[in-house]
Amino acid sequence: GASLELDQLAAAFNDTFARLEGSFDQLKRFTADVSHELRTPLTALRTVGEVALRGSHDADGYREVIGSMLEEVDRLTRLTDELLTLARADAGEAKLHKEPVDRGALAREVASHLSVLAEEKEQALEVDAGPLNVEADRTVLRQALVNLAVNAIKYAPGRTRIRVVTGRQGGAAFLEVADEGPGIAPEHRERIFERFYRVDKSRSREMGGTGLGLALVKWAAEAHGGRLELETEVGRGSTFRIVLPSAH
Ligand code: ADP
Repeated sequence: GASLELDQLAAAFNDTFARLEGSFDQLKRFTADVSHELRTPLTALRTVGEVALRGSHDADGYREVIGSMLEEVDRLTRLTDELLTLARADAGEAKLHKEPVDRGALAREVASHLSVLAEEKEQALEVDAGPLNVEADRTVLRQALVNLAVNAIKYAPGRTRIRVVTGRQGGAAFLEVADEGPGIAPEHRERIFERFYRVDKSRSREMGGTGLGLALVKWAAEAHGGRLELETEVGRGSTFRIVLPSAH
């Protein structure tokens, strides 16, 4: 009767409030994280500038200062670009422009784009890709693959092998990046996909990371109706796999 309905209504209200409270907390934490992430490079910029102004330097000295300031500007630019993409994704405004994408060609393009980075660490960047097409947003998929490959290069030691592989898995298409890096311990496995979560904050920053890379890859996979998988073993390496529904 009426009391049962009231009970249900009360339960529904409680649910809604709990969810609102949850997203409020999330928003608060996210805003605090963003402020902190912005302040770090801004503080570095200010310090480097102030120290340089205090003394007088020759042309090379100033060039070095400007170079290090530009590095921080780069990081800020990347951070704001990635935040903008995620904000659009959250608002449901990120429209995918789907077109037939040759994943093999995409994998080779990403690998050759990053070969200089890998060469610096004497890593072998290999591509194993077949010409299999998929309906996808090429730009979004490319950025996702770049993020995975950049992570592999960053976190795996020198003289190791990194493989970019595309293929089919049942009816689905996949693109993966496999490294022989440190792997990811069980307690971090779920959390590394969260915004700004890093296993080692200072190490990630040192290498120019924003902490948003994997959050973007996960979004890219899910926006295509797919998912992001991780296979990893500590001390052995990690394989991040974007699985997309229905290959053609
Ligand atoms: P960033 O690399 O900028 O810190 P990401 O979101 O791309 O941010 O990655 C989050 C964290 O996941 C990294 O800080 C690192 O600790 C861990 N990680 C990502 N890729 C790898 C990898 N290939 N091997 C080991 N750890 C990784």
